[in-house]
Amino acid sequence: MRAFFHPDQQLHDPKQFMRVGRICGPNDLPTRTAALVGALRTRGVDPEVPAEAGLEPAASVHDARYLGFLESAYERWACIPGAGPEVLPNAAPYWNGSPERDARPGCRSPSVVAEACYYLGDLAVPIGPDTWQSALASSHSAWAAADAVIAGDKCAYALCRPSGHHARADRASGFCYLNNAAIAAQRLRSRFDRVAVLDVDAHHGDGTQEIFYRRSDVMTVSLHVDPEAYYPFFTGYADERGAGDGLGFNLNLPLKPRAGDVTVLGALDRALEAVARFGARALVVSLGFDMHRDDPLSMLGVKTAAYGEIGRRIADVRMPTVVVQEGGYRVCVIGACLGEFVDGLRAG
Ligand SMILES: [Zn+2]
Repeated sequence: MRAFFHPDQQLHDPKQFMRVGRICGPNDLPTRTAALVGALRTRGVDPEVPAEAGLEPAASVHDARYLGFLESAYERWACIPGAGPEVLPNAAPYWNGSPERDARPGCRSPSVVAEACYYLGDLAVPIGPDTWQSALASSHSAWAAADAVIAGDKCAYALCRPSGHHARADRASGFCYLNNAAIAAQRLRSRFDRVAVLDVDAHHGDGTQEIFYRRSDVMTVSLHVDPEAYYPFFTGYADERGAGDGLGFNLNLPLKPRAGDVTVLGALDRALEAVARFGARALVVSLGFDMHRDDPLSMLGVKTAAYGEIGRRIADVRMPTVVVQEGGYRVCVIGACLGEFVDGLRAG
């Protein structure tokens, strides 16, 4: 199995994260990447540096004005007298909450403060001096993993950090700036006529859902903690099934808080059945380790060994597969989870 990771992905070093009314330290620590790289190496997988691909991967699923904002925001922000150390919004434009809404027009105001309010969906996506460089390199890892599968590899792993599944076509949120899983799926579409994205992070893959919500060529399936009481709150419900041409090509499987291995694996089986019924020719897995019972953001009771079973069941569908790293924030746990997952994938 080939894996991809660029050292620039460690540069992004967020300082602030608003949680239940308190500014906390970040969960997305740069040291996450060393834990994941270490786990790969103990399995004999040495991650390759992805080829430089510029803006092409990001532009394949994201709005051009949004990308222009991400690229320029920090430099412009730093010129504001008295500005804080990271770009963060202090207002939020009205959004009607419907998953069927179209992409928005560009932000009317050219001010970086206005654009921060428009393009940053919450207070978990600070932009620091290295954020853009890391996010761009992360998108290159996803693109390279998709290219490996297009070239004939059965499976490839993209160690994406920052992760991506909350990033919409024109909005960052939830530690995510560029949607790496959507980028991989879009790249796979150049070779495979039907692609499925299976999201097994603890949080709903709302950005991925939004990007493909009106399309019938990419099915999105997500199992996650019920958003009634868990981020991202506004989407991830079972009645969101797609719209227009995409009606019937989105499946959400919300899980009750405190669900354990048996419930999660049962939902995974339902998800994989839906992927098979869809007739997918290739699969993207959004892999998060924040379902683990020891994760600081977890509301589930998943144990380390369950990730081996998740890998095995995914391998059993025998589809060309790109695995994209999403969340998982207990640094001392995520390496073991990835190791189990890789073992399961190889045994399947
Ligand atoms: Zn997550």
